[in-house]
Amino acid sequence: MSEEARLREEICRLGVSIFARGLTAGSSGNISARIADGWLMTPTNASLGRLDPARLSKLDDSGKLLSGDAPTKESFLHRVMYEERAKTGAVIHLHSTHSVAISCLADIDPADVLPPITAYYVMRVGRLPLVPYYRPGDMALAEAVRGFAGKHHAVLLANHGPVVAGTSLDAAANAIEELEETAKLFLLLRGCKTRFLTKEQVAELRAAST
Ligand SMILES: [Zn+2]
Repeated sequence: MSEEARLREEICRLGVSIFARGLTAGSSGNISARIADGWLMTPTNASLGRLDPARLSKLDDSGKLLSGDAPTKESFLHRVMYEERAKTGAVIHLHSTHSVAISCLADIDPADVLPPITAYYVMRVGRLPLVPYYRPGDMALAEAVRGFAGKHHAVLLANHGPVVAGTSLDAAANAIEELEETAKLFLLLRGCKTRFLTKEQVAELRAAST
């Protein structure tokens, strides 16, 4: 099986898994993966739970459709990650409930949305900036994401949801799932006196993962 055929299967398998666990609903959410001559993207209005490997959008590096169905209207969120982060092998964007809830809170720090609750969050997500709200389809959103993408593989779009890049589909999926679980924990702990990781503990994790 070619690398592209393998990635097509993998995107569809991951989509089913994400949809079955309720990590994104309806036709929301999209997955992409880099291939030798461009990238594969989930199509517009497609449920992640019912993807067809043969109908995935195949795009060239500039985002032009080469084959398959029309890509999601959110494909520009993926393109800026590939353009700004050379090692990106895959990008996932979800409307995952707890992360979206966090993105709507009025009193979060836009420079780093979630506190260091667990070591795995620090290692897989790190600092999470909030990208200001823009109307869906507004290209200003792409440029706003671009402003963060050089320094961050994960960003949270205000009143919308997370976009996470990884070196592979597995890495991107693990990071966005860690982010969603941490968002859930943060909401569970709201109002409770909480022992977050200390600055020293976070510094130790960052030093070990570089
Ligand atoms: Zn979206």
